[in-house]
Amino acid sequence: MKGLWIRNTDVYLPDRVLTGGSVYVAGGRIARICGPEEEWSPGDADEVWDAEGLSLVPGFVDVHVHGGGGADVMDAAEDDGAIGRIARFHALHGTTSFLAATMTASRDELGRAVDGVVRAMERGIAAGGAEVLGLHLEGPFLNPRRCGAQNPALIRPFDWEEMEELLARGRGAVRLVTLAPECGDALHRINALASRGVTVSIGHSEADAETVRRAIEAGASHVTHLFNAMNPLHHREPGIVGTALIRDELTVELICDGFHVHPDVVKLVFAVKRRDKIALVTDAIAAAGMPDGDGYRLGGLPVTVKDGKAVLQGSGNLAGSCLTMDRALKQAVAFTGLSLAEVLPALTINPARQIGADDRKGSIEVGKDADLVVLGPDLTVVRTYVKGVRVDG
Ligand SMILES: [Zn+2]
Repeated sequence: MKGLWIRNTDVYLPDRVLTGGSVYVAGGRIARICGPEEEWSPGDADEVWDAEGLSLVPGFVDVHVHGGGGADVMDAAEDDGAIGRIARFHALHGTTSFLAATMTASRDELGRAVDGVVRAMERGIAAGGAEVLGLHLEGPFLNPRRCGAQNPALIRPFDWEEMEELLARGRGAVRLVTLAPECGDALHRINALASRGVTVSIGHSEADAETVRRAIEAGASHVTHLFNAMNPLHHREPGIVGTALIRDELTVELICDGFHVHPDVVKLVFAVKRRDKIALVTDAIAAAGMPDGDGYRLGGLPVTVKDGKAVLQGSGNLAGSCLTMDRALKQAVAFTGLSLAEVLPALTINPARQIGADDRKGSIEVGKDADLVVLGPDLTVVRTYVKGVRVDG
């Protein structure tokens, strides 16, 4: 692979915007960053692209993806192409790496889905797809009263033996586990999980503030889709929401589709919560990028999508989303009134840091993977590069 120069563009660096800057990509990594006055030569680059009027930002990192483009992470158990289809679909929307999120399922089915994701990671995603950084196990150790779109019949109390089996089958790929600390002995297992390098997330839970405090002490550092599938903020019992907003140990996921969280509440979170502790996620399902209809499924349950909103048939609970990260970015900027530079960390370095991938993902710095997104003035994705390889539509 030869080199690529992206010239004459606004480069969003960790600490500033380099106006009229240039970035040189070689060997899949960011090799050089130049200001407008600096000497440069095309050298052995095989492409020099003048991207004047555009913005060059880090590729998006989504730690909560169930599916997209018609494929579901749980299909990986049987279908060796499922993860690749998800990776390609989201790459077209600026996501350059993600965690494949499983749903609550039987022990056997969940184990086989984990095996399938690991196989896909070992094979590697074909050029043009986002990189799979690992697994997010969303369940099965949740609170059935806050099941959301997870099948309550299969939610079960924390079982360390099953957890160990999943970690073993994941062969190091399990990076994030969502659990309800108040259920079974989950609270007492957080420390063991965290000490194995797993990011422990509180979610699908109605933990009170005291339980959240103890979970933080044990090593919990993340909250799965803040506000959704949890007890609301109460002024005498702050619960998960109130505690998460004020405790810097916790990074909070937000689904910025306009359905899961009211736009003003998105603005409120950005006003209150430490900015480097917000991670925008899609929670996208197979129906993302597909037409409206009622033939979809999530975790084995039937889902209807209407006007881009996915709900479980019967309960009407929101069933993940049809969101993509490019739209999450546009909406977060619109909802908060903040600048692109202020919102970007929530889609890039913050989630990367949360899963220990910030040594090579999440920012434009020399030596990091050339995971790059070029945005137009209206924040539409013009081009995506994953490790220096252009994603084609
Ligand atoms: Zn989810």
